[in-house]
Amino acid sequence: MSSPDATAPRQPSRRALLATGAVTLGAGAVVGPLAGPANGAFDGGPLDRGENWPAGPGRRNRPQSADPQLREIMSEIDKDRIERYVRKLASFGTRHTFSSQTDPDRGVGAACDYIFDHMQRSASRSNGRMTVEKQSFTPQPAPGIPAGVPITNVIATLRGSKYPERFYVISGHYDSRNSDVTDPVGDAPGADDDASGVAISMELARVFATRRPEATLVCAAVSGEEQGLFGSTFMAQRYKDEGTDVQGMFTNDIVGSSTADDGTRDPRSIRLFAEGVPSDETPDEARTRRSVGGENDSPARQLARFATEVADRPTTAMRVRVIYRRDRYLRGGDHIPYLERGFPAARFTEPNEDYAHQHQDVRVENGKQFGDLPRFCDFAFIRRVAKVNAATMWSLSQGPGPRRTCASTPVSSATTPCCAGMRTSSGTSRVTRSCGGRRSRTTGPT
Ligand SMILES: [Zn+2]
Repeated sequence: MSSPDATAPRQPSRRALLATGAVTLGAGAVVGPLAGPANGAFDGGPLDRGENWPAGPGRRNRPQSADPQLREIMSEIDKDRIERYVRKLASFGTRHTFSSQTDPDRGVGAACDYIFDHMQRSASRSNGRMTVEKQSFTPQPAPGIPAGVPITNVIATLRGSKYPERFYVISGHYDSRNSDVTDPVGDAPGADDDASGVAISMELARVFATRRPEATLVCAAVSGEEQGLFGSTFMAQRYKDEGTDVQGMFTNDIVGSSTADDGTRDPRSIRLFAEGVPSDETPDEARTRRSVGGENDSPARQLARFATEVADRPTTAMRVRVIYRRDRYLRGGDHIPYLERGFPAARFTEPNEDYAHQHQDVRVENGKQFGDLPRFCDFAFIRRVAKVNAATMWSLSQGPGPRRTCASTPVSSATTPCCAGMRTSSGTSRVTRSCGGRRSRTTGPT
């Protein structure tokens, strides 16, 4: 028989921790660890019909209907514009990170200028609330990246009208690759991977620009993803260094097609990958998690659950399928640098990927066309994914943010002031809030 570890931090009761872990987000939405499974987890089964659902505590996620302003936003998202963005990005031939920075027609530099110009035009309609930045840096030489290669992120930031310090970020990567990840010359149209995700950032920047979200919304296009998440790592680290309160981040990566490699289509669902055990978990936090069985209560999962509540059917005509993994097997994406820095983040990806149309040289083999070409994109599908993003981002921005109350017993010390050492319910690591709503920042778990 084991005895309690006298050196372990004092733990709150399970009920107190679960109460603290519940998130209040959006227009009255309450999402908590007991709010139910990810939508679709029991699709078609008895639980999907509400049978046999245990009585409290907590309640199931229910999709919310969009308010008039959000309905207007979603109606403005334009399939034809999205198609134009994707085709234009593919027309640069390659957007490989090592391709030309100066050729006006071909290469990553031309693509960067195109995205920047579009974002600036959107910002010009924002009455000064949206700013656009080319965030350039030259990484140290590393495996996969030679010396002296500049990488540029394009970032459109729409300042919040009421809570400008709260940030929500969507991102896609505009660099591309073919079968050889080091080839800067050969065609790499990258229509699905990831002009589709960039198109969503471009279109939402356009649609959001004339609005006044309460919190700050960021629509980004980053580079260097295929070489090792260089652009998103720099961007996330910059936010961390500047103390930016990023309360949610989504990467849209490979969101361009609803068709599987066997030809079947699933045009009404999108996967949302959300990790369980936080990537930046400390040993103290791991002990607490194990003691309460909190593997399913991570900030990323809570963020994903919120997305199912505000962006699932009927609001967007899409199902948001939360996948309980950080990413697909042996794959990664631009949400990971955010997770590693304590920011809640998740990844949208199409329901079925066809590997003939990503990371492939453009070629015909035995009569089959390979390559990531615009013709294999479903632009109506990308529009619906953009709506999912819009509903999620807008609802986050108009909501109250993480609750500012706290458990009566701090995680780590009975003498620590209330709230200190607790994660915010959004999981913005080590940013703590006092009971009076004042915020303080600590350097680590107390
Ligand atoms: Zn990608």
